[in-house]
Amino acid sequence: MSARIAALATLLLAGCASAGSMPEAAASADRGAAWAARCTDEDSWDRPGPPFHVYGNTWYVGTCGITALLVTGEDGHVLIDGGTEAGAPLIAANVEALGFKLSDIKLLLTSHEHHDHVGGTAELQRLTGARLLSSAEAAPVLASGKADPADPQFAIADIFPPARVDGTVTPGEPVRLGDLALTPVAQPGHTLGALSWHWQACEDEVCRTIVYADSLTPISADGYRFTDAPALVEGMRAGLDRLAALPCDLLLTPHPMASRMKQRLQAGELAGEGQCRAYADTKRRSLDERLTKEAAR
Ligand SMILES: [Zn+2]
Repeated sequence: MSARIAALATLLLAGCASAGSMPEAAASADRGAAWAARCTDEDSWDRPGPPFHVYGNTWYVGTCGITALLVTGEDGHVLIDGGTEAGAPLIAANVEALGFKLSDIKLLLTSHEHHDHVGGTAELQRLTGARLLSSAEAAPVLASGKADPADPQFAIADIFPPARVDGTVTPGEPVRLGDLALTPVAQPGHTLGALSWHWQACEDEVCRTIVYADSLTPISADGYRFTDAPALVEGMRAGLDRLAALPCDLLLTPHPMASRMKQRLQAGELAGEGQCRAYADTKRRSLDERLTKEAAR
């Protein structure tokens, strides 16, 4: 290519607002100091919190109480989780406050199919036009807005607006969008179709593996016994082993409090060694305690 044509190509590219170029607002976004100053561990799911830059291509666009993550790419963005029905417009506003376009969000992904994380998915699908991909087990729940009868929290689960599921993902197989690749991990526990996700985020030459690990506290509706669901318990244990073994530089969770996000933001660093292993160890202990309690009843 001649120098003149190369210069022309550069000009043309500069003029084209691709999804990959970072908006001005995003470039000046903080690393969570404002979020940590505003939000407390007691905050409700729908208390608005300011969006912030997590690392590289990854942005926190959730509320004070519920996480939603925007992963930006050259050919469009991915949004993981949609908050509650009331939280959806807050997430959309956070995406726009960073200067990203809702119409550049091409894929919606989810952690676990409870209304606090997917109640806003239908509205976000309407606002973005994005395709929604879920686990095979979560698909009927997302499409109906009703919990699976085998869900440990079935008896207390709220209904939510049904969304259009456009396809399912296979755990271990990356979901690709342009230069992005996000890998789902089967993480049954809170729900049967729960997923964790991991992907690469880079700044200059430094790449980190971000892990969005699902909620794994063994809670349930009254009367439910994990002991009576051996397949789920086995799946939880296998999932915890998978989570502990993942490459993991920076852990995020659907409830920020579950991984002490505020405290880590206040300390000035979200990343750290062994975060997934420590998280999995804690949840494994909770599961053992729960099973011991059930045996004593
Ligand atoms: Zn939740």
